Amino acid sequence: MVTMLDLTPRVAVSDRLATLPVVIIGAGPIGLAAAANLVERGIDFTIFEAGSRVADAVQVWGHTRLFSPWKHLVDPASRRLLEATGWVIPAREGHAPTGRELVNDYLVPLADLPEIGSRIRFGQRVVAVSREGMDRTRTAGRAQAPFLLRVQHTDGQITEVTARAVIDASGTYTSPNPLASSGLTPLGFDQVTDRVLHALPDVLGADRARFAGRRTIVVGAGHSAANTLIALGKLAREEPGTRVTWAIRNPSARRVTSSPDDELPDRAKLGTRTERLVASGVVTVVDSFEISRVEPTGDGIRLIGTRRREPALLDADLVVNATGFRPDLDMLREVRLELDDIVEAPRRLAPLIDPNVHSCGTVEPHGFRELTHPEPGFFLVGMKSYGRAPTFLLATGYEQVRSVAAWIDGDMPAASQVALTLPATGVCSADGGAGGSCCS
Ligand SMILES: Cc1cc2nc3c(=O)[nH]c(=O)nc-3n(C[C@H](O)[C@H](O)[C@H](O)COP(=O)(O)OP(=O)(O)OC[C@H]3O[C@@H](n4cnc5c(N)ncnc54)[C@H](O)[C@@H]3O)c2cc1C
Repeated sequence: MVTMLDLTPRVAVSDRLATLPVVIIGAGPIGLAAAANLVERGIDFTIFEAGSRVADAVQVWGHTRLFSPWKHLVDPASRRLLEATGWVIPAREGHAPTGRELVNDYLVPLADLPEIGSRIRFGQRVVAVSREGMDRTRTAGRAQAPFLLRVQHTDGQITEVTARAVIDASGTYTSPNPLASSGLTPLGFDQVTDRVLHALPDVLGADRARFAGRRTIVVGAGHSAANTLIALGKLAREEPGTRVTWAIRNPSARRVTSSPDDELPDRAKLGTRTERLVASGVVTVVDSFEISRVEPTGDGIRLIGTRRREPALLDADLVVNATGFRPDLDMLREVRLELDDIVEAPRRLAPLIDPNVHSCGTVEPHGFRELTHPEPGFFLVGMKSYGRAPTFLLATGYEQVRSVAAWIDGDMPAASQVALTLPATGVCSADGGAGGSCCS
């Protein structure tokens, strides 16, 4: 537990700004937690959610079980609001819910609270953030100018709204890393888009028929890859002809290796189960495989690249891209951001989370100070605040938005006093720059 006290006066809020709501981008777990904190502080806000439902991204991977138990998944401010209505935490001690359970048993009731639900705008995607009358280059009076957000509705209509502050909790789930090890979309990708699936397909449910009796390559070395491999391993036992290859660009998949030191046993179990599938031959590992091109082969797909500097290729019917995610920064082109060169996280946060240095459990508590940009009143929070670092945990995000809400309220003692207890891990230790994905 670390405690810091900062009594530096914050930028005064102009009269005009004070009349405007805070805008929260995204009604995922962190956007809703930000809302709960603002409710407690009596600050007006609007949430724009691109999807038609609460926590749209979590719902897409809702068949997947999280590895944190309930006690690490519920935001304290949200819990207070919910418990006041008679809600009880669905907490079987040590039990980790699926994404769907997280949504149905916690996030939907939270979003249904009138003080939050009445402020969510579903089917409205924020496509650009700027300041009224101020492109990125204008400085005079900038801090007093309202934020201007451009919003695209599902029917294509585009509107603009103003805000006193912006909390961007839009996550990274819809912007996966490309398959090529260069970080670019592999050459030829346009011809195979129908054969490459987004991370975490519902292999044993809705997507079963696509995978049954077919050859799949899972690309990526993190927990998303492990989840898909485990599901495909089960399918392979039930459906003859189902074949599974695991392509990783590093010499080993250390991030999903099981560790007795992981205080989240469900996360460690992912590693154990994946190791068993490899040892039993159900999953074939192709390590050190660097993809540069892809091409169609009849109904299938060929991955072309190098392995230990020699030309190499892999053929399959389908590829699952589980290479992790990156933040969508296009919509923030007119905002003055200060991001780390490597992980694309806020510069002061980045050293605390760089996967080259830190494990899943070692992030220090942090709040508005680490999340501040040269653009006063703009904050990246949640999964998106970690940029390309794969180690984000909800408990971290809940503390972020508590501190940010306090800052918006001008409550500097509360904003500065950050505290966080995260479970430790023996899984995701420093690996000298191997990259890859941990919690993603
Ligand atoms: C399979 C999996 C398992 C995980 N397990 C755990 C775990 O056990 N413990 C843990 O602590 N963490 C876990 N995580 C990590 C993390 O907690 C989750 O990814 C979590 O969903 C992040 O919450 P978020 O609110 O930041 O982003 P998201 O859940 O991605 O929510 C972002 C929301 O913003 C919306 N949106 C996106 N763009 C826009 C836009 N431009 N305008 C308006 N709305 C937009 C999306 O539709 C979405 O609803 C897991 C992640 C995955 C993928």
